[in-house]
Amino acid sequence: MKTKPLFIVMSAPSGCGKSTLIDLILQEYCDIVYSISCTTRAPRGEEEDGLDYHFKTKERFEELIKENAFIEYAKVHDNYYGTLKGPIEEVLAEGNSMILDIDVQGAAKVREYVRNLPNNDPLKIGYVDIFINPPSLEELRARLEGRGTDAPEVIAKRMANAEGEMARAGEYMVQVTNDDLTICFKRLCDLIDAYSGRM
Ligand code: 5GP
Repeated sequence: MKTKPLFIVMSAPSGCGKSTLIDLILQEYCDIVYSISCTTRAPRGEEEDGLDYHFKTKERFEELIKENAFIEYAKVHDNYYGTLKGPIEEVLAEGNSMILDIDVQGAAKVREYVRNLPNNDPLKIGYVDIFINPPSLEELRARLEGRGTDAPEVIAKRMANAEGEMARAGEYMVQVTNDDLTICFKRLCDLIDAYSGRM
């Protein structure tokens, strides 16, 4: 069945299960491609170029900025991070969809970029942004503490960030709550199917 290529932007506070949900979506839909960001930071551990990030030198990244190659970019702790336009345009032109995992600030830049595109641009036609909410702030705190990976001050920072991000959830076209992973995943599949015209 021929479906509409989507440009899906997904945000969620840390600890809401976004990475797991995106992995499930990528397993379920062979025509959805994950957008790999560019960064100037050094690879960590097992990270591979072209898989986890496109690792760039600062000089190359700044060239790409000048060439207007990014749909959005940001400087975080002295390193650049950005999303290239080219791969998204290529994937949609091939009839496939792209999913972008990005924070609220990055998503706001992408939304603004898309808003300024002509109405017949495939990125605008296929655009949908989704915010994943935790069931509650208390539950999010319990999940972050339950992971046992973060120091109390890191958890406090994540909680403050989460509140700030959730305050901007209304900017998104769709909000989904991850109270139960299976149910949340099903809701996301239903949304993807509806937006792409699969049903
Ligand atoms: P890390 O270095 O831990 O992989 O990522 C650090 C931060 O950079 C995270 O908050 C992550 O969301 C952000 N980041 C990763 N890729 C991009 C991107 O393409 N654009 C923007 N604006 N931020 C990104």
